[in-house]
Amino acid sequence: MSSTDAEIATDARAFRTELFIGGRWVAPAEGGRLEVIDPSTGRRVGEVAAASISDVDAAIAAARAAFDDGRWSGLSGRQRSRVLLRVASLMRERLEDLAQAESLDVGKPILFTRMIDVPNSADLFEYYGTLAPHIDGSVRDTPLPAFAYTRREPRGVVGAISPFNFPLILSSSKIAPALAVGNTIVHKPSPLTPLSAILMSEILADAGVPDGVYNLITGGGSDLGEALVRHPGVDMIAFTGSTKVGREVASVAGRLLKPVAAELGGNAANIVFADADLDKVIGTVINSFVFNTGQFCMAAPRLLVERPIYETVVGILADAVTHVPLGRPSDDATVIGPLVSAAQLERVEAMVGDAVAAGGTVATGGERIDLDGGFYYAPTVIAGLGNDADAIQEEVFGPVLTVQPFDTESEAIALANSTDYGLAAGIQTTDISRAHRVANALHAGIIWVNGWAMLDAAVPFGGVKASGWGRENGPEALESYTRMKSVTIAIDPPAAPEHGGAS
Ligand code: NAD
Repeated sequence: MSSTDAEIATDARAFRTELFIGGRWVAPAEGGRLEVIDPSTGRRVGEVAAASISDVDAAIAAARAAFDDGRWSGLSGRQRSRVLLRVASLMRERLEDLAQAESLDVGKPILFTRMIDVPNSADLFEYYGTLAPHIDGSVRDTPLPAFAYTRREPRGVVGAISPFNFPLILSSSKIAPALAVGNTIVHKPSPLTPLSAILMSEILADAGVPDGVYNLITGGGSDLGEALVRHPGVDMIAFTGSTKVGREVASVAGRLLKPVAAELGGNAANIVFADADLDKVIGTVINSFVFNTGQFCMAAPRLLVERPIYETVVGILADAVTHVPLGRPSDDATVIGPLVSAAQLERVEAMVGDAVAAGGTVATGGERIDLDGGFYYAPTVIAGLGNDADAIQEEVFGPVLTVQPFDTESEAIALANSTDYGLAAGIQTTDISRAHRVANALHAGIIWVNGWAMLDAAVPFGGVKASGWGRENGPEALESYTRMKSVTIAIDPPAAPEHGGAS
């Protein structure tokens, strides 16, 4: 539904309509505006700045100057650490502002933005703030008549491109490690969800991040993103998004020999063996496909169930998901909110329609939910599909679960590994040897046993195959944001002894 300016005025929400460049809030060069849509009503609730290419150039120039004069990279790790730890505490102080913005923008239940999105983002700044003083090189043992050591140096200007589904966490997972090692940043969030990045700019400045070290360009999608990737003033790209766009980014950057950290799509399988603790498994399975309304890269839309318990699991799930509270994101009890946009809703609806046409049986859901004009879709369980169906092979990115039976461990592994993706996978079993065997055999960057989405700033996160090659979180992320330098210093042999000295 479209809205009038009068409706927006009564909404009483005011967003900044400038870009954050060089430490100042500046009007976009061409006066561009980007609408902010509330997914829970479909209504426009305000607007933010829409950058043009000349704004991208200005942001890169500011980041370049800030990197080259050493105002940030020239600080010691301990000095940078103090600033990052202040960012973490300011995020915690402004938890409610950030949680409200993220909930409004993405349609996420406020329960989760308060409990997960904001605290996890603050944790990332705390974690990399704590690591910043410990980013050392090492001395190498060598037979050369020389002293050899390595240095880890920042790459320079990082172009950070983030997706719509976890705007704050996935911005923090780039900004915190990139800043910890001394880089400067130009950040382009998704045009669907720019709000938390605007608040983040304020927090970074308040914490003492020097002018020009972090720059924010909100606005369009592919044009601004591509300008960032192509620009010679950007030294690396940190990209999280779909596999399709990731391929484009990597191919442009590849021609320029520009490093890319790529966190791409996912389509995880969750394998439930007959020996699993079913009471715990049902909650885990529901969480794995309804959290964030299924819009998360490590969602498990593919459930593989050992045949003796297959019918039971489908039956329990079909009933249990109807009891998960679906509703307005602002309601404290809501667990499932709307999808992010009308386009995402149409996409999910079309994929379910195709699944039914391909022979799938909808055990529950399979329809829109009519509430306030928002983009709601019922949690949906589909059984009976062949493994080559699109709903199984492609990333759905909605609250949709397909369920397939299997007879043997090797069949489960083959099914789990049968898509192009390889971000996450799950194993639900009480047999510890089986857990190890299957974990080793699965083609995925992250494996969860007897649970789902157990994430922490300290544990590396990233995929294989079409899910990309980056690793966020953990000390491993710092490798993406640094380059290694070797320094070898010749050591002269002792001077020849002098002859004819005193006898
Ligand atoms: P998307 O690929 O459509 O967009 C991601 C970002 O890229 C946005 O900021 C967008 O504006 C920008 N962009 C679009 N075209 C571009 C181009 N040609 N050059 C440079 N930038 C461009 O993704 P989305 O719909 O925002 O997010 C959902 C996708 O992200 C899903 O596929 C999901 O699996 C993936 N994702 C992956 C991870 C992970 O860690 N692996 C985490 C979250 C989301």
